[in-house]
Amino acid sequence: MNLDLHLHSTASDGKLDPAAVVDAAIEGGLDVIALTDHDTVAGIAAARTASQGRNLDLITGIEVSSNWDGSEVHILGYFIDPDHPSMQGHGDRARERRATRLRAMVERLRDQGVDVSFDAVLEQAGPDAVSLGRPHLARELERRGFVESVPEAFERFIGNDHPAYVSTDLLTPEEAIELIHSAGGVALWAHPSRADFDDRLRALVRHGLDGIEVFRPWNSTAWTLRLREAARSHGLLVSGGSDWHGPDDGVLGEFRVSSEDIAGLLERGGF
Ligand code: AMP
Ligand code: MN
Ligand code: MN
Ligand code: MN
Repeated sequence: MNLDLHLHSTASDGKLDPAAVVDAAIEGGLDVIALTDHDTVAGIAAARTASQGRNLDLITGIEVSSNWDGSEVHILGYFIDPDHPSMQGHGDRARERRATRLRAMVERLRDQGVDVSFDAVLEQAGPDAVSLGRPHLARELERRGFVESVPEAFERFIGNDHPAYVSTDLLTPEEAIELIHSAGGVALWAHPSRADFDDRLRALVRHGLDGIEVFRPWNSTAWTLRLREAARSHGLLVSGGSDWHGPDDGVLGEFRVSSEDIAGLLERGGF
């Protein structure tokens, strides 16, 4: 089986709507995917409908944003119940907070002489975007000619260390793990950072972390092996995925994880 357990749709900062993500996954020869939009499960129902009666299994997922000592920690939730009140509650809070935060970032950019409008950012995000994110702002900066590419927008204006950056400030990692557990899911650390990796992992495990994302397209072999060994020594589950946000990130299915590599996780989900 070929899997990709980290994908975004227009419900957050992805470019394709959930049904189109499903189509692209089938086209790309994937057997199992997880839709993991930032802080929302709003795309799950449409993805489920689109996958019904076709050769694709959909794992219900989410990528929860949390902050820790000023840095971003993302926690993936798999096998969650999207209808659980805790998920709906988090989605509502995140929708509000992410809009307020992007408004604040637009203000800060204006203070720096970069005159973008919040309404134009909303237009970039499109009508289905429940979770507004920095990529929507980056696309508007590109459209207006302030930068030539989305990565340049992060480098020059909205990356984590820049004056216009405002943190999502939604949850602590511990709360993110609790949220996922409350909705019946397993919680895995998305794209673990190299900075303070061992200390952070120990703390997250103390807070109930179930696993880490090991397989990513850009990970070096050495880093993948290190993550795999860390998972083994802590008795953690492993997952993997492309973190695909749309065709700009390449063809869906070119990066794939095999079921043998993530057998423990699949077993937890009843596969
Ligand atoms: P947010 O959740 O609003 O803080 O935005 C984070 C998102 O921005 C990530 O999920 C990526 O989709 C995107 N992103 C983060 N860093 C970069 C970067 N350096 N270049 C392009 N996109 C990025
Ligand atoms: Mn994203
Ligand atoms: Mn992430
Ligand atoms: Mn992601």
